[in-house]
Amino acid sequence: MTKKQKNLLIRVIAAGVLMAVFSFLPLDDYPIVRFLLFLIPYLTVGYDILRKAFKGIRNKQVFDEHFLMAVATIGAMALGEYTEGVAVMWFYQIGELFQSYAVGKSRRSISELMDIRPDYANIETEDGKIEKVDPDDVEVGTIIVVQPGEKVPIDGIVREGKTTLNTAALTGESIPQDVVEGDEVISGCINMSGVIRVETTREFDESTASKILDLVENASSRKSRSEQFITKFARIYTPAVCYSALALALLPPVIRLIMGMSPMWGNWVYRALTFLVISCPCAIVVSIPLSFFGGIGGASSQGILIKGSNYMETLSQVRTVAFDKTGTITKGNFNVTGVHHSTMINDTLLEIAALAESHSSHPISRSLKLAHGKELDLGRVEDVQEISGSGVIAVVDGHNVAAGNLNMMRHVGVTGRECRSAGTIVHVAVDGKYAGHIVISDEMKDTSEEAMRALKSAGVKKTVMLTGDKESVAKAVAEMVGIDEYHAGLLPADKVRIVEEMLQEEGEKEKLAFVGDGINDAPVLSRADIGIAMGALGSDAAIEAADVVLMDDDPRKIAKAIKIARKCIRIVYENIYFAIGVKLICLLLGALGIANMWLAIFADVGVMVLCVLNAIRCLAVKRV
Ligand code: ADP
Ligand code: MG
Repeated sequence: MTKKQKNLLIRVIAAGVLMAVFSFLPLDDYPIVRFLLFLIPYLTVGYDILRKAFKGIRNKQVFDEHFLMAVATIGAMALGEYTEGVAVMWFYQIGELFQSYAVGKSRRSISELMDIRPDYANIETEDGKIEKVDPDDVEVGTIIVVQPGEKVPIDGIVREGKTTLNTAALTGESIPQDVVEGDEVISGCINMSGVIRVETTREFDESTASKILDLVENASSRKSRSEQFITKFARIYTPAVCYSALALALLPPVIRLIMGMSPMWGNWVYRALTFLVISCPCAIVVSIPLSFFGGIGGASSQGILIKGSNYMETLSQVRTVAFDKTGTITKGNFNVTGVHHSTMINDTLLEIAALAESHSSHPISRSLKLAHGKELDLGRVEDVQEISGSGVIAVVDGHNVAAGNLNMMRHVGVTGRECRSAGTIVHVAVDGKYAGHIVISDEMKDTSEEAMRALKSAGVKKTVMLTGDKESVAKAVAEMVGIDEYHAGLLPADKVRIVEEMLQEEGEKEKLAFVGDGINDAPVLSRADIGIAMGALGSDAAIEAADVVLMDDDPRKIAKAIKIARKCIRIVYENIYFAIGVKLICLLLGALGIANMWLAIFADVGVMVLCVLNAIRCLAVKRV
């Protein structure tokens, strides 16, 4: 409990005791004493609400829940209904206490779940001692030491030692990852076994852990439509309620006066006050942001980063999911299965291709470099130009080299040779002449097929694959994992066009998600209703361009994200309908004079507590 909460709790207890004691005192003959005595618990428990109400009036933002509470309780005190007056404040504060406790708890459990904030970095001093320093002060290129049990504080490359890393805090999945010299390590992972020395490649602020924390912390500030709706709603609703209460207090007595009856002022004012307490919108105002907060937090504990409440809503309405192929449905680890029609020694062709590709981050380039297997002399490569969705052009040892698909060959004016082998083909041209092609084949992710089934069970109607690869590969992949529709041979611009066509066709509440790995599909990611980037560990482009970021590259998380969003939105609406429903019934009873202040208190505080409890369920996402 925080200090503020403790304070409030003490005030609530003190006021409760005083109120109970005073109720038993035989004070009926001393109204002034009775009033003064009850004023003590009233002010003890409610002074800050009164102050906030006055502040609101001074700032010309009159109509908020503090104002409602202040008017209702001051009115009750003025009518001589002291117990009711104090009780309204009392229960209201209990509700507040409860809510601040719930928010604190979910905030804490999120930061526990996302336990990736590094506190320090170790650097080695000249006499071989290890010194702890603020990671903010570590410059790029510094060697830091990470011992077993410690978090990697800053992104970098292992220069000495080997170990196993636990990435659970980042991805929600505890698959240990072995790293050796030369491997990249990402901040936020926990070092499990050996001591490693890491050369930092980024500033602390630019490192993965810092970026992710930033993202999670700022997520709930992006308001969803239902939240915006509530703000607008409260702006109209509260004044409307206040004026209705005023009318309820004034009109009936005046009419009775005119008709020659006794006006019964006290009676009607009491009804008006009851009406005010009932109509306080705090249950909704409090529980909705809490639900989104919980949902976003729960998702991030599963390695799913949702960048704002607005995306939560869109995500819950996804009916079509479009995928990139390479790195999304397939692993993006290509094996070389053949070299054909080579005008030189096969290994030389592979070397030239690997050199030309050496600056690219495309999965194909990485795989070619790996297949070549030897250290590449980057000094042999100049003038690299990557053509998104086609391949690369570069000058290698003074020769113009182009490597890529048939598009690429057309681009450099060379006739490529079709290839019937199963797999993706990298055609190579040297100095304007065809030099042969390399056949590479990708592996399917083990989880892709299950992911497609999970999507269907999460309510997705159609799955579509958009790829720049050739028809035969696309067809095989689509059939193997069970994708409904595929489009092959696309340039990045074609992907955008197809997504736009699909957006045209969709209905109001049917949204389209695009899932990619962030490599040359950023335009599509931002064009879709919602862009989901996967395998974000290490890819900044993906983290920036997407609305939802999956920390690892498990496609099953897409369905999970949709389910989490649906659960969260369902809870939000449950709360809205429940709160408004109970309030409408109580308001009706109040206006008819059947409800008293006690029922009003239930309608306000009771509903708020129930809504908050319901909202907390958003945090539980392990098994959605
Ligand atoms: P996907 O849509 O499957 O993610 P891309 O749009 O990244 O594929 O690329 C489409 C096609 O363009 C690839 O299948 C490949 O033939 C070719 N290509 C793209 N980049 C490269 C590259 N760096 N080297 C060789 N070929 C490439
Ligand atoms: Mg791609």
